[in-house]
Amino acid sequence: MKKISIVVPCYNEQEAIPYFYEEAKKVSETIPNTEFEFLFVNDGSKDNTLNVLRDLSKKDEQVKYISFSRNFGKEAAMYAGLKEASSDYIAIMDADLQDPPSLLPSMFDTLEKGEYDCVATRRVTRKGEPRIRSFFAKLFYKIMNAISNTEVVDGARDFRLMTRQMVNAILEISEYNRFSKGIFGFVGFHTKWLEYENIERVAGKTKWSFWKLLLYSLDGFTAFSTKPLILSTIAGIIFFIISLIMILVIIFKTFIFGDPVGGWPSLACIILFVGGIQLFCTGISGQYLAKTYLEVKHRPIYIVKERNFDV
Ligand code: UDP
Ligand code: MG
Repeated sequence: MKKISIVVPCYNEQEAIPYFYEEAKKVSETIPNTEFEFLFVNDGSKDNTLNVLRDLSKKDEQVKYISFSRNFGKEAAMYAGLKEASSDYIAIMDADLQDPPSLLPSMFDTLEKGEYDCVATRRVTRKGEPRIRSFFAKLFYKIMNAISNTEVVDGARDFRLMTRQMVNAILEISEYNRFSKGIFGFVGFHTKWLEYENIERVAGKTKWSFWKLLLYSLDGFTAFSTKPLILSTIAGIIFFIISLIMILVIIFKTFIFGDPVGGWPSLACIILFVGGIQLFCTGISGQYLAKTYLEVKHRPIYIVKERNFDV
């Protein structure tokens, strides 16, 4: 008898959870010799999510939940779920059925054969998503893989089934600024990829605005690469060399040709340009400093207010 935990981060998912539960429960019953546990993590929802979870857990003893004291973000919710789950195999799934439970049986079979430690999923299309969002997502994966040694797979979802051993490795990484797509790659292990077409959410609205995604991608860059710091050093060196050449040219022109040095517009442009580059580079250093600052404070990644099981 193998135990499987399904970790489900939920933020304002009152409409989606009943659909998800019904669908996932159905699939779980088709897998023989397994015992399932649904671990919902209520990430400080402002709607009725917590009540929906309380009711579910009363009806079905396989349903467990923990509820945060406020919204800590999906990364914190996933970490909490992995930490509190106690099974042989652990899966992470969104509550909106964008991660099809129908893939679970074949994921389970693959892990049972023992060759793989993890079965992960990626979407090969992004239909139903705004064009501009897909464009920036693609750009993000390109830049990320160019500047980081950790592989981040394009279109990878957080939906994956992992062995206890891999989950323990992930939990060892207890950093505050979590970027799971990178952490999964960092811990390694033998991962099999399943591909599927994008599915639109079953109910409710997406929790990720364009702005939130942009900030999240910056987190990804700083969490898994220090190359931007090198970039700012290189930019500094290039501008230093350019300025040396310009000084020599101007001295040469003044003394040999007696050229009066005119043209304040070009000067204004240069000051603005170089000033911009300087601010950009200071900003990059600031990003790393800020992340370090948050990291050394050792604040908890999440705070639990309520749970329906003992630890
Ligand atoms: N989520 C969360 N905390 C947040 C934002 C989202 O736990 O602060 C959960 C959300 O309830 C869902 C999953 O993360 O189960 C994915 O969110 P969503 O479907 O809104 O993202 P999208 O699929 O649009 O990228
Ligand atoms: Mg979704």
